[in-house]
Amino acid sequence: MLPEIVLRQAQEAIWDLDGTGIGVLEHSHRGKAFGRVLDGAEAAVREVGGIGSDYAVLFVSGGATAHFARVPENFLGDRTADYCHTGVWSAKAMAEARRVGNVHVACSSEPDFATVPTTFAWSESPVYVHYTSNETIYGTEWVTPPPAPAPLVCDASSDIFSRPLPLANHGLIFAGAQKNLGPSGISLVIANKEFIKLGSVELPPLDRYETYAAERSLHNTPNTFGIWVIGAVCRWILSEGGLDAMAERNARKAKLLYDALDASKSWRAHATPGSRSNMNVTFRGPTPAREDELIKAAEARGMSGLRGHRSVGGLRASIYNAFPEDGVRALVALLHEHDA
Ligand code: PMP
Repeated sequence: MLPEIVLRQAQEAIWDLDGTGIGVLEHSHRGKAFGRVLDGAEAAVREVGGIGSDYAVLFVSGGATAHFARVPENFLGDRTADYCHTGVWSAKAMAEARRVGNVHVACSSEPDFATVPTTFAWSESPVYVHYTSNETIYGTEWVTPPPAPAPLVCDASSDIFSRPLPLANHGLIFAGAQKNLGPSGISLVIANKEFIKLGSVELPPLDRYETYAAERSLHNTPNTFGIWVIGAVCRWILSEGGLDAMAERNARKAKLLYDALDASKSWRAHATPGSRSNMNVTFRGPTPAREDELIKAAEARGMSGLRGHRSVGGLRASIYNAFPEDGVRALVALLHEHDA
């Protein structure tokens, strides 16, 4: 869900960008009007995230999955990268990295992926440590980043800007935009400028983070509309009080739901306290039939998208930044009614 006000601003910008008489979908990416959009979006991302000049802010076409391969292709070489295995997304990232070179699993929350790891076995000299700050499908979240002995690479696709950004020790943070930032098919990358200098120079330009940093994401035609939306969403975050306010609001919304699940006779949260996601609340019912029943009852009240991801089943309430507290309260009421 995106903020309603941003969707209404987008309607206007598609028709007429900033009074130019030409829509954002129509302006040249090299023109002045889009130049202002790009500058504004970068400035807003920097202000929201508290991102200084030691980090580059990059707008990269394509979703988060592309970075699963791009990161090892840039940085792995003949060294070893350590991966924190917390579910579906880290598995996909590791599969891509293994095609490139050596992967060491430094920690894992297998088999049920209900808790983020607390013990670590790092390899001798990892080139980077990859983790998924929020596991979208299992519904777990790192409260603090893993205590890594190397630059962290974070897949923040599903919790970017839902709470303060822990930049320290990070070489690179990437996030597909479609949860908290904007449309699908574009990712935001926050890259330590020294770290990306280490990237392979043999790759095609669009696979090198350095290219995006050196050419301000304009090596080729970027997803101009996606950049516009990311800028507008970041300005909305600022107008709502920034990341501290988002974190407080998100924690409050999620707590309503977890408290209801913990008190319920029939429904139980999947993730364990201390590892629970404030973005994706995953839960199960006593039987698949009861789960189907709840999903149907929810749909009858206009609540959609509650079926858990096809790979794990159960239910999942995705309550990203723009999701209203009233929506959470409506689900809590429904859980009470179906708690026989
Ligand atoms: N990582 C995480 C944590 C995700 O939640 C997702 C998408 N849900 C992805 C990666 C993949 O993103 P995309 O489909 O944009 O490639």
